Amino acid sequence: MAYNAENYKRIASQFKDKNLRAKQDAEARRAELHERLPQVAEIDRALAATGPRIMREALNGREGLEERIRRIEEGNALLLEARNEILRASGYPEDYSAVHYECDECMDTGFINGKMCKCLRTALNYAGYESSGVLKLIEKQNFDTFDLKYYGGNEKINMERILSRAKTYAEGFDGISMRNLLFMGTTGLGKTHLSSAIAKVIIDNGYDVIYESAQNIFADFEAERFGRVLAGEDRTSRYFACDLLIIDDLGTEMQTQFTVPCLYNLVNTRLISEKSMIISTNIRKEELLAKYSDRITSRLFGEFEICVFAGKDIRSQKRIMQLKGNG
Ligand SMILES: [Zn+2]
Repeated sequence: MAYNAENYKRIASQFKDKNLRAKQDAEARRAELHERLPQVAEIDRALAATGPRIMREALNGREGLEERIRRIEEGNALLLEARNEILRASGYPEDYSAVHYECDECMDTGFINGKMCKCLRTALNYAGYESSGVLKLIEKQNFDTFDLKYYGGNEKINMERILSRAKTYAEGFDGISMRNLLFMGTTGLGKTHLSSAIAKVIIDNGYDVIYESAQNIFADFEAERFGRVLAGEDRTSRYFACDLLIIDDLGTEMQTQFTVPCLYNLVNTRLISEKSMIISTNIRKEELLAKYSDRITSRLFGEFEICVFAGKDIRSQKRIMQLKGNG
């Protein structure tokens, strides 16, 4: 598990605030009750004295202690009943001054007996979708929505193989063993869909994923290189640090003298530190070879498992189906 450290810090502090606020709000409601209903204040004072009373009884000797404690408890039950009655009569719910947590299971601490509560995991996953850049994509483009009906014949067999590989990749991702995929094929064949689907599973399993277009990645590096960022602003270290980097649409970026060394540095550094990547590209092998240096392509074709997407553009198939449906 290597949740994005910044997300973790931010969300842990949100949980702390949430827990504190729930207690403070309850305290404020209790104070309001005591102000309006002095009898309730009196009952609460009596109930609060239960601990010291039991302690005193224990000091008075063991003889009949159980019976004495039982009497205190019976008295408390009567007090509570009376308290509830007063609240109901005054139009308050019985649990008005109780602490209302968002999550009753962990009382907004995020942990139950040292284990992460699912509410914290959900919050971290959501933050992971956001910071990875797939938040908008994953809703529509996940494994559940991937449809093989748009592929026929051999292309379908090919796609089934890629889909199954994508699933084992996502489920087997452990943040330690490096596995790199290179998705090749023209637009509209499901490369983005599968990248997003993989990202969701891996984020859900607690890893730090970045999904970004090649264009934006290069823009971030350039902005830093040429001082077009705020002082102290760091846009690029996350590309090196994340558990999985997904580079979408390599080859469509505007090429500058800076693009090739930047890509080499990024890919090479991640390979050396054994951090996984998925790169997708619409351009053919020859074009990749022409666009980038041998140093890069030899790494892409040597260190990445190549998945070649084939078929007919799904977006245009969908459009045609819609037209037919409407006509
Ligand atoms: Zn919880």
